[in-house]
Amino acid sequence: MFETTIAGSLPKPSWLAEPEKLWPQWRLSGAELETAKRDATLLSLKEQEDAGIDIVTDGEQSRQHFVHGFLVNIEGIDFENKVEMGIRADRYKAMVPSVTGALRLKGRVHAAEARLARAHTKRKLKFTLPGPMTIADTIADRYYGDKVKMAMAFADLLNEEARALQADGVDVIQFDEPAFNVFMDEVTDWGIEALHRAAGGLACKTAVHICYGYGIKANIDWKQTLGGEWRQYEKIFPALAKSRIDQVSLECKNSRVPMNLLSLLAGKDVLVGVIDVATDRVETPDEVAALISEATKYLPKERVVACTNCGMAPMRRDVAMAKLVALAEGAKLARNRFA
Ligand code: ZN
Repeated sequence: MFETTIAGSLPKPSWLAEPEKLWPQWRLSGAELETAKRDATLLSLKEQEDAGIDIVTDGEQSRQHFVHGFLVNIEGIDFENKVEMGIRADRYKAMVPSVTGALRLKGRVHAAEARLARAHTKRKLKFTLPGPMTIADTIADRYYGDKVKMAMAFADLLNEEARALQADGVDVIQFDEPAFNVFMDEVTDWGIEALHRAAGGLACKTAVHICYGYGIKANIDWKQTLGGEWRQYEKIFPALAKSRIDQVSLECKNSRVPMNLLSLLAGKDVLVGVIDVATDRVETPDEVAALISEATKYLPKERVVACTNCGMAPMRRDVAMAKLVALAEGAKLARNRFA
């Protein structure tokens, strides 16, 4: 009961990449970079284990960004000439690559870090991939001329990689879809269908992570505009509840999401975000336990997994580590209370 996990990413050590940045520059190149990514992956596994996290990840140490990390080994994408694009309904601008031809995987994308992680931890291993709708919202299209068609093409590539990750011994494959609470109508029109296509044929657990984004300024400003209650999830949860995805990860700590919306996710494991990634203030185990208890008012307790609100990539490393400890200790406290 009340297993713990993280949304996916952890801060990178400063010898690997620029700290506290969402799109950091690598500090090294070539073979040295590959070795450094490997070392950082082992370190982040060890830190999660020592903190007491049950379902661990590679900390996304091998990718520069959660979306573009998947795109690097795909034919049909021009990475050389990045263009500025407003993403998440123009919430912020990003320099993005373009799709310039038919999409095809050149080979495995995440084999090295998945196999390394699998070989070095006995805990359950989760691996994250960007969801098709979020990819389609984070890349310029100069080939397909149709967002849905392009998203479905990405879904097929995600499926190819996801099946291979499963064969590598990954226990949970999570698709990150922060675009899901931006384009609510599209989620029910085609977003879930694209997700099913990405997760097709998988026997391991599947998850989708939705959220209100990292703790960067553009997101914090956006949240100010969403009003006293954030009800975006209300539009998409019923469709997610009917979907074939096993788990839903979402933001609860310091969010204005009414907790009773969780009851719309009947039948799903819910990765309840009990750790805020938008503030350096470290939660107390008591606060974590209280939010877990709150979630059990709306979900069967065996369906509640304690998680972070979102990825921790742009955070201070010491703060992130302290938050992992609070997460694990809070879940332990909640287990004791319910035992
Ligand atoms: Zn997130």
